[in-house]
Amino acid sequence: MISSTNKTVPEVREYRCNICKDEEGYIERLKNSDDPFDYVEIWRDCECVKERVSERLMKSSKITPEFQKKTFGNFTQEGRPPLVQDAYKAAYNYVRDLDDKNVPNKSIALLGRPGCGKTHLLMAISNNLIAKRTQVLYFPFVEGFNEIKSNLDSLETRIHQMQQAQVLYIDDLFKGRKEVTDFVIEQVFAIINYRYLEKKPVLISSEKTIAGLCEIDEGIGSRINEMCRDYKVMLQGGIELNYRLQ
Ligand SMILES: [Zn+2]
Repeated sequence: MISSTNKTVPEVREYRCNICKDEEGYIERLKNSDDPFDYVEIWRDCECVKERVSERLMKSSKITPEFQKKTFGNFTQEGRPPLVQDAYKAAYNYVRDLDDKNVPNKSIALLGRPGCGKTHLLMAISNNLIAKRTQVLYFPFVEGFNEIKSNLDSLETRIHQMQQAQVLYIDDLFKGRKEVTDFVIEQVFAIINYRYLEKKPVLISSEKTIAGLCEIDEGIGSRINEMCRDYKVMLQGGIELNYRLQ
């Protein structure tokens, strides 16, 4: 005898997408004629797939939830110096000029003073690209290299990922009080040179000028200069450029 307490409650599953019941697609019957058995079945991707692809790309991009909120819309332009507005325009045009597959064919560099919104603008580009289902890999320079150094076994894999990503975003390139080591220069060169040769786009923010980058390594600086020729803003000037201090 089955006691009443053992009754199984029918499972009510909640689907995120009620159209495909989270199968991400469905089978559609295409009739060939009036004969009910004369049909072909084809698989159709569900509309929800696009959204899921963007979500997966966002997850693998390493962009933090806080940075996922950075858009062009919430970037304050008003009352900011003309150079900051130039940086906004460069970033905005960069997204406007994507190719028909929503991939940028050039690179962009926002260089100069901290607190100008360089990271915000490059995040806005990244978030835009991911929403259009283009892969972006975010690499915060200081934390990224600390992580690599603490786990050197991962070095090859990490460098390979950074070479291959559809779009690579290096934030705060060559930041740090200490002199850049040969090890770091070697890795950055391997990434930049590969992407330069393969014509793969990079988004770069740095407090260094192109000359400053060249001082550290001419091969890296000159390649970045060439890759970012059409979208490069040098935010030079006084403390008035620093939004955080206003
Ligand atoms: Zn669906």
